[in-house]
Amino acid sequence: MEKIYCQGCGVLIQTSSRKEPGYTPKSSLEKEDILCQRCFRLKHYNEIQDVSIKDDDFLQMVSSIRNADGLVVHVIDIFDVNGSLIKSLPRITGNNPIVLVGNKVDLLPKSTNKNQLIQWLRSSAKEAGIKVKDVFLISSIKGHGMEELTESMEDLRNDKDVYIVGTTNVGKSTFINRLIKQQTGHSDVITTSYFPGTTLGFIEIPLDGGASLIDTPGIVNKQQIAHYVSEQDLKLISPNKEIKARIYQLNNQQTLFIGGLARLDFIKGDRQSFVCYFSNQLPIHRTKLEKADELYKNQVGQLLSPPNEKTLEILPELTESSFRITEEKTDILFPGLGWVSIPGKDITVVAHSPKEVAVSVRKSLL
Ligand code: GDP
Repeated sequence: MEKIYCQGCGVLIQTSSRKEPGYTPKSSLEKEDILCQRCFRLKHYNEIQDVSIKDDDFLQMVSSIRNADGLVVHVIDIFDVNGSLIKSLPRITGNNPIVLVGNKVDLLPKSTNKNQLIQWLRSSAKEAGIKVKDVFLISSIKGHGMEELTESMEDLRNDKDVYIVGTTNVGKSTFINRLIKQQTGHSDVITTSYFPGTTLGFIEIPLDGGASLIDTPGIVNKQQIAHYVSEQDLKLISPNKEIKARIYQLNNQQTLFIGGLARLDFIKGDRQSFVCYFSNQLPIHRTKLEKADELYKNQVGQLLSPPNEKTLEILPELTESSFRITEEKTDILFPGLGWVSIPGKDITVVAHSPKEVAVSVRKSLL
């Protein structure tokens, strides 16, 4: 069989996996000029669709960007910083400058201290070995922060290409679609072009002055909880509007279940409020620590849900990490789900989360 390549982006055409680069419905194979569905949608609807790549294609992506010259815009999800920061980014980008963009800021409670959040993102990047030129907070759905970001991108790119990179599910396509609208208005047709040196479906969108905006495939990071829950549960755990704090007054030896996907045991310390920031639709359940194991065993997927049945088939078992809190105002972060703020100090907690999805702590963003 002859191999067919997309006339838009040069990716190898395939008809089996909708989420991977090069997908085209079988019915389109008879056409003269074959486009992958992603290029087709961009050409006819001015809309970018997300595709993802696996680890083995990742190295190829690395070499194509490293040898290029331009600005790298790394989009992350502020609700899943651990799962969406690409720890190997410096390998991808070589010496190209990086701007870090924290997306979905519209979901944060109004009381969040944005400067502190920016500081935290900066230090998280630094810890991961990523040197960033600047950090921005945006909502690609609502448009918050876009003007400031695009001005800075114009400044930093120096008339060169802009590479948009991110893991899956951070809102990269939503972000690019917004940029396209800003760039072209609604009516112009976008021509995509073949990006030399890659068959991974990089898509080029022309910018003023001859350079391009380049959409790269979303990288699959195994630490993202999104890979371990069903589509239905992913909708439930992803907040869709500003999250409301839910406050629980707890004594030690009590436990909070976040659905049945995570759990926080209050082991030692004075009675105090545990302030929970999760999707408003995600149920939280309080119980005694001594009853927690039994409750989980009998009720996971039922009283303690999500997980639904489908998620239970793919969800790794919960594992524990202990934290001794020595300073006031700490957040316990459950990546991809949310966090619990604890006001006091001299406290010991044990956090349970699906294996692979690591719990961490930070100073509260208040
Ligand atoms: P991609 O896989 O990185 O391309 O991500 P998508 O653009 O498909 O977005 C993933 C999910 O996040 C979708 O359900 C979007 O509606 C949602 N999303 C993207 N950007 C935002 C945002 O700024 N705010 C909110 N609340 N949701 C967003």
